[in-house]
Amino acid sequence: MTIKKLLVSLLTLVVISGCNESSTKTTELIGVADKESKPLETQIAHHNAQDYHSFSNPDVVKVTHLNLDLSVDFTQQTLSGNVSLDFQRMTPDADTLILDTRDLVISKVVSNGNVLEFNLANADNFFGAALSIKLPSDSSQVTVYYNTSSKASGVQWLTPAQTAGKKYPFLFTQAQAIHARSFIPLQDSPQVRVTYEATIRTPKALLAVMSAANDPDTPRDGVYEFSMPQPIPSYLIALAVGDLNFKAMGERTGVYSEIGILDAAAAEFEDTESMLIATEKNFGAYSWDRYDLLILPPSFPFGGMENPRLSFITPTVIAGDKSLVSLIAHELAHSWSGNTVTNATWRDLWLNEGFTTYLTYRIMEMVYGEERFNMEAVLGRQDLQADLDTLKPNDQILAINLKGRDPDEVFSNIPYEKGALFLRELEHKVGRANFDQFLLGYFEAFAFQSITTDDFISYLEQTLLQDYSDKLSKERIEEWIFEPGLPKGAPVPESDAFTSVDKARNDWLSGTIAASNIDSDNWVVHQWLYFLNNLPAELSSAQLTELDKAFGLTNSTNNEIAHSWLLICVNNWYQPAFPRLNEYLVSIGRNKLVKPLYKALSATPEGKVIAQKAFAKAKAGYHPLTVKVNEKFVK
Ligand SMILES: [Zn+2]
Repeated sequence: MTIKKLLVSLLTLVVISGCNESSTKTTELIGVADKESKPLETQIAHHNAQDYHSFSNPDVVKVTHLNLDLSVDFTQQTLSGNVSLDFQRMTPDADTLILDTRDLVISKVVSNGNVLEFNLANADNFFGAALSIKLPSDSSQVTVYYNTSSKASGVQWLTPAQTAGKKYPFLFTQAQAIHARSFIPLQDSPQVRVTYEATIRTPKALLAVMSAANDPDTPRDGVYEFSMPQPIPSYLIALAVGDLNFKAMGERTGVYSEIGILDAAAAEFEDTESMLIATEKNFGAYSWDRYDLLILPPSFPFGGMENPRLSFITPTVIAGDKSLVSLIAHELAHSWSGNTVTNATWRDLWLNEGFTTYLTYRIMEMVYGEERFNMEAVLGRQDLQADLDTLKPNDQILAINLKGRDPDEVFSNIPYEKGALFLRELEHKVGRANFDQFLLGYFEAFAFQSITTDDFISYLEQTLLQDYSDKLSKERIEEWIFEPGLPKGAPVPESDAFTSVDKARNDWLSGTIAASNIDSDNWVVHQWLYFLNNLPAELSSAQLTELDKAFGLTNSTNNEIAHSWLLICVNNWYQPAFPRLNEYLVSIGRNKLVKPLYKALSATPEGKVIAQKAFAKAKAGYHPLTVKVNEKFVK
């Protein structure tokens, strides 16, 4: 970020914090005065936390429902149409509705048949442009006519060549963290929850799906109607359009994808229904009716996105052996933590991701057993360590300070794995059954609400901290949430299945056995990852050649194994793997898999040339987020 941009952001933030000043005070007052007299739910429902990443004014005028009518134009790469927003006035003299937008062309705003005045402010680089609408006193709904830019940060347009079927174009949205505003003018803050309806108009050959009720048997006629009756935050509004087909996996679960990978996806993820049932048994009923998966083309920048009722999933986890399906457990778990109980601001992301990562491990244990749970917990702990070793202290804090920063920057292992480890410590201290009881109560108490870290702490004070004052302390909990690093004595995951891997690695490194004599016939993917990720940083070309010859690592079709191996090859300049490295970078857009490779390559001038070449070739097929994150390495 340049100084100039920083200044613009800071100036913007002064304006934002100015208009949200009163809500901060309200929060403090409720926290102190009303605690005794009101039930928990009521106290929390009145919170309006300060959101540094939205211009909107929900403490004055709050949007409650959206009705979208959008046409999808693959030639222009735009969405155009209108959105009607129902709103409530939170103060008697409220006369202005402020919405977030980014790169939108606003043509007109109407209420009760009258054209309204509006003002679109100058755009900020991170946050887009505030749209202010003067409200007539009798109005409770406005309709905004608009179209998106072909560069909308939350929409990716794929040419037929970028799809599996190569015949039809494809589009998908990715709204988290603050990209919904690039395809809908709305109050783009996770503390504003809306229900929505939508009419999506597409070319007739294509099917539209949304994070809403989807009917697998809907006729393919180019006009699709959706309804999401539960209030959700804006970052969970999602749309995809393509040559999609559906296959049921269970009573409440199914998969949408292009026809070519439909059967493979349905087979890989066939345990989704069991995961759903297991999660319900421990953590309360599933609130969202159906749970389907949408498998996207490989350019999807994330592993998965927990869009309610329809998680968006990368195809890179279709490994043929269910080895990477913890991703499905993760997206499913968000139906409880994240989608039902939601972080109020991006500072509180750990409430979404820490709880979800904790639940993911629990679901994997319930469905696949303790050994798998232990292995995944160890690997997760190692991922966390890698970030603790490299991130600045301030970025190691669960309740991270994001003021003036792009919330996309918060996505490290800290909110995920450190958050999960914190919850595991609570579980260990109070006992699993008691902790499960607490979680059940937590999900119920805050169902369909957006809460802050402070709300969580105050809930903890009135529940676990009170019931187990002999085992827990507020100081320790605050250390977990507000301090960098890990508290001393944090849980240490262990796996017996890795003991033999450690021995094999040591024997090979010391020259006791040849790579071809490592007894790896029964190793599962997790053991391979553990073997590779814990090799010394420096290896000789002879050693790498030996490993590659013995195990065919360069040609591994498991995308996680290939990732770990290719990273080792970059760091040790093992050139025989470079054609595969290039192919990997060009064919996959999942940021977690490509970013470490670009970063490692860009550490040397020769590597940077390889990175630049791959990036130039891949860029057109990458999602804007993947471009944004990796561009800096190849410059
Ligand atoms: Zn997640």
